Amino acid sequence: MKLLENKVTLITGASRGIGKGIAELFAKQGSNIAFTYLSSDEKAKQLESELASYGIKAKGYKSDAANFAAADALVNDVVTEFGTIDVLVNNAGITRDTLLMRMSEQQWDDVMNANLKSVFNLTKAVQRPMLKAKRGSIINMSSVVGVKGNAGQSNYAASKAGIIGFTKSVALELGSRNIRCNAIAPGFIETEMTAALDEKVVQQWRDSIPLKRGGTAVDVANLTLFLASEMSAYITGQCINVCGGMLT
Ligand code: NAP
Repeated sequence: MKLLENKVTLITGASRGIGKGIAELFAKQGSNIAFTYLSSDEKAKQLESELASYGIKAKGYKSDAANFAAADALVNDVVTEFGTIDVLVNNAGITRDTLLMRMSEQQWDDVMNANLKSVFNLTKAVQRPMLKAKRGSIINMSSVVGVKGNAGQSNYAASKAGIIGFTKSVALELGSRNIRCNAIAPGFIETEMTAALDEKVVQQWRDSIPLKRGGTAVDVANLTLFLASEMSAYITGQCINVCGGMLT
């Protein structure tokens, strides 16, 4: 039996990386998929047809998760097209890394808006269909950096720590309505973004991880699937690391 048969999942930032991995796994598990992206039109089109080949309904939306009005309009469009939203995965995120001494107001604002405000925007908007359906699972992509901090990433770490506080509060507010909310804290996950880094540096990271490898989008997607499905029916308000033991 498929774990998400006939469900509707909305995933932000799925044109590549972890979001794409989640979309692929969820589609294989029977979920219809609405996903967003910011600028990768070609990749989004390709993903739409790949997902549809698993026999589910799939649609990509060009929509800025950081924009409150756009997020609200997106959720209305998805509900009109798909009927409801059972699962929301707040995955879209960016980095603008630099030391605090050099960080501009713009770099701070861009990261907070794309990573944290986006989670508020989408979660607030999906409350309506989820309250109506009397069920839902919301999964927010944090980071081990949000738990531990990281030099050169004070903006990113603050946004990811904010996601954890938001997740726990939403879980407390909506638990009685059968709506669960959890966060995932990935460690070093090898995506297109990390492929651009110096191989020597990447190897040093791998060597420092207890499981001796970087994570994959599938490693993160597997936990996301568990949190989306009824397998995790009694789990809410948690932040779970997927980091190969990096943060232990
Ligand atoms: P990625 O490869 O850079 O992909 C980011 C995705 O988000 C893309 O689809 C991008 O769309 C989309 N996006 C960015 N800003 C957006 C916005 N304002 N509105 C809508 N979509 C937007 O990132 P990733 O490595 O897969 O990371 C995914 C999530 O996991 C992020 O939240 C990240 O912080 C978190 N994370 C990643 C790692 C890691 O090691 N990779 C570790 C911990 C946490 P376009 O393609 O159109 O730009």
